[in-house]
Amino acid sequence: MHPTPAGRHRDGSPRVTRHPRPLHLAATSPSRLLRADQSSRCRQCGQPVHLYQRTDRRPIALHPAELPTAHVPEPCRWHLSGGIAHPHGDGSAWCRIPHAVLCPRRTPACPPGLRLEAIRRHLAVRTRRLIDTGNLAPLPPSSTAPSAGPRPPARPVVQILLVRYLAPGPLNSLRCVARTRHRHRCPRPVLSAGSPVGRWRLLPASPQHGQSALPDIPMALYDLSHLPHSEQLRWRAQRCPAHNAGSVADLALPGWEPFDPLAHAAHIHTRLPHSPAARGRAS
Ligand SMILES: [Zn+2]
Ligand SMILES: [Zn+2]
Repeated sequence: MHPTPAGRHRDGSPRVTRHPRPLHLAATSPSRLLRADQSSRCRQCGQPVHLYQRTDRRPIALHPAELPTAHVPEPCRWHLSGGIAHPHGDGSAWCRIPHAVLCPRRTPACPPGLRLEAIRRHLAVRTRRLIDTGNLAPLPPSSTAPSAGPRPPARPVVQILLVRYLAPGPLNSLRCVARTRHRHRCPRPVLSAGSPVGRWRLLPASPQHGQSALPDIPMALYDLSHLPHSEQLRWRAQRCPAHNAGSVADLALPGWEPFDPLAHAAHIHTRLPHSPAARGRAS
């Protein structure tokens, strides 16, 4: 009988070696469930992250390595307990840090100490390498978040009825979701001439709770709080003034996402936009 060449079946077909995904069981996990590897990559910079669940069950992407607690500003310290990520240190000399704080493609969310700045620079070089080797798409010039200042944000944060939402697109592109009599989606904008307008304001990025991973940096948001209640409801329903009170059906879902200062750190802008575009400018 002929010896089988390495890497081939006897019939000559290639032997496919399957590498099973490693499963982890955290020694302190209360659920004792096996979990697939939590390693992932940041979609913006391509760098490795570890995904964990927070106490409120939302996911958070942490930098894979622990850092000396002394190098991490207090609001950015996290620790793991029972497989759950907690937004503060645990008193030890080491802590975890959200990737959003270090991500080279996002606005720095912490006061950048020398150590964190060095890690960011290191990640930026690796991201550059991924782009140069064709493994990561370069950012289109308009979406370079850190430089957004004078221009209106591509996805502004809007405060409606005291709740913050991330808009699906620029304010002047928000289109009514109602269905017209011709069974088409209404083409009219939400930000409509003749309707009262909101105000651009700088307000703390994490207003109500001190347990956020972000320090209270000021962020630009489009505030509707001073508008009549019915107007704010209209904005939240993403409807034009003509379809504000009507009982017509919607043809699409409003595109608002509840704003999360950590998950949406890339959309935090620390300067008010100045632009003649739209009537959503600072007032
Ligand atoms: Zn990143
Ligand atoms: Zn409409």
